[in-house]
Amino acid sequence: MQVASSRRRNKAQESSALPVMPAGARFFSISEGIIDTARKDYIDALPVAAAILCQDENGRSYVDLANSVFEDTAGWKAASDKPWVDSIGFFSETGISRALEDFLDRGERAYQFEGHDGRSINGRYYTVRLSKLRPTPYAPQRCLIALIDKTVQIETENSLRAEMLRDSLTGLPNRLAFNERVEAILGDRNFKPGSHAVLAVDMTRFSRVNHCVGALAGDELLITFARRLFSALRPGDVLARTGGDEFAILLRLDKGVGDAVAFADRITGVLGTPFRLSDMEIRVDCAIGCAVAQDKKDSAEELLRNAQFALKRAKLFGQVQVYEPGQAQVVRRRFSIETELRRAIEAGQLSLAFQPLVELATGKITGFEALTRWDHEEEGVIAPYEFIEVAEESGLIVPLGRWALGAALDAMRGWDEKYGEPLPVYMGVNLSAVQIQRDDVAALVSDALAERKIESHRLMLEVTESAIIHDPQRATEVLEAMQRLGVRIALDDFGTGYTSLAYLQRLPIDLLKIDSSFVTDMLDDADSTAIVRAVLSVAGALGMVTTAEGVECGKLATALADMGCTNGQGFFFSEPLDADAAFDYWLSRKT
Ligand code: C2E
Ligand code: CA
Ligand code: CA
Repeated sequence: MQVASSRRRNKAQESSALPVMPAGARFFSISEGIIDTARKDYIDALPVAAAILCQDENGRSYVDLANSVFEDTAGWKAASDKPWVDSIGFFSETGISRALEDFLDRGERAYQFEGHDGRSINGRYYTVRLSKLRPTPYAPQRCLIALIDKTVQIETENSLRAEMLRDSLTGLPNRLAFNERVEAILGDRNFKPGSHAVLAVDMTRFSRVNHCVGALAGDELLITFARRLFSALRPGDVLARTGGDEFAILLRLDKGVGDAVAFADRITGVLGTPFRLSDMEIRVDCAIGCAVAQDKKDSAEELLRNAQFALKRAKLFGQVQVYEPGQAQVVRRRFSIETELRRAIEAGQLSLAFQPLVELATGKITGFEALTRWDHEEEGVIAPYEFIEVAEESGLIVPLGRWALGAALDAMRGWDEKYGEPLPVYMGVNLSAVQIQRDDVAALVSDALAERKIESHRLMLEVTESAIIHDPQRATEVLEAMQRLGVRIALDDFGTGYTSLAYLQRLPIDLLKIDSSFVTDMLDDADSTAIVRAVLSVAGALGMVTTAEGVECGKLATALADMGCTNGQGFFFSEPLDADAAFDYWLSRKT
């Protein structure tokens, strides 16, 4: 009773300094008194485990009051067990004892943390909330502890997360989980460049097989394939399914990239036996792209992307390919060239250079070849071999080629005006295979000539062999339309493609341009001389004139003339020139 009455007094004068009661004396009367009952009722009514913890004047904490949920949770009974916090296993196990001491020592009013009770098999998770209560004379520190059971929520989250990280078909980690594993390696303090590699593995011909055998058997094949991949791993390597028939492997490299190659060999071994699908036997192979983790700053996604990039090459060139830094840069550069080129065409930032085509027997200029030039405002001159390829891949060659044709004819008309009459030269304009495929070349060319009132025989379109081989039907139509118009055709880079003699004979080709790769070093190379001789004799038999490209010295020009080659083009005569310089060059060599 003494305690109860002293407590009642405390209510009124809580902060006043009353004589402190001996701590041990109070426990016997803890549930006595109206207020105690009320407090117990209150705390019992709480839907969560709750208790009032006090610290006595000796700094020892005890449970002053607890509701039944708390008793069940902590596995402790007020009626029979000792109230000392340090004697109740639950408090030490969940880390509450330590947190409580710290909390009571600090000035803050409330504190919350996540606790885990690992004493049972499954363990339970709690949000533990501590809030300070006003002190009493016999308990200088008091607080309310509430335990919110998060077990169900956390277990659901964990299983959802596990589900999210797992590929449901094979049971392997998926891309997300794989990336987490790679990030963990990269983020490790002891990460060493070159210690790990990411491999991208692709089952070749899977979509075809899948199509033939049906989705169910296809799934079975994927599972078996995954199993075989797994059997080729060493302990610690991670296999994941990152997409349809694509797998990724995180490989520890003990001996550098050689480990990836060794792995590829083991794969070949395990894939050697055919796969048995119901009553069929299927042989499966795979391609492997490898990217070595070189830098902490790499990201998992980036590594996987690089491995996939190498994989694309592996599909073309052989089973395993290692990503070389810089390959992605090439792709990026292509992209930026495409964007910039589109802009340059629209803004009229391209120009033409004209290279003289010289009759070898007389030294007379018979024509010029128009070559596109791109002087980028920031990057400087970008070489045609770089941007023409991008233009062909992206389709930009269509507007580029249209522009080049118009600009070349404009230049010719400019020369005619300057000279007072049409110059006795023709203009060679390159026509890409893609233009032949996609553009209405016949209409384009006849309009361009008509618009400028230029006679059609003064235009020579340079077409490569690939344009013919790619779609002979279409090429034939276009070339025949040109013939009807009176426009001449040169077969460009002759000797590098595989045009059959039948085409040469059938198509209206006026001129063969012998590729510089046979010409430039011809004098030192008997094979090249033989090829040039053969081309010249074919051209002669078919009634075509010839132009040798890449004539870099006078000796070569003489030799070619002696062999019967009609024209020469090359640095020996002149580099490609701008329109004015080309006109002056022509004037100077006119007679
Ligand atoms: P191409 O049609 O074979 O053009 C001849 C190339 O040889 C030109 O390169 C020219 O500058 C270069 N050349 C000239 N003389 C010599 C020489 O003595 N030695 C060597 N080694 N090379 C010489 P360029 O201007 O860099 O053009 C490269 C290619 O880009 C052209 O090869 C052509 O296929 C393409 N191209 C350029 N402009 C156009 C265009 O407007 N349309 C299309 N479709 N292609 C173009
Ligand atoms: Ca050409
Ligand atoms: Ca050429």
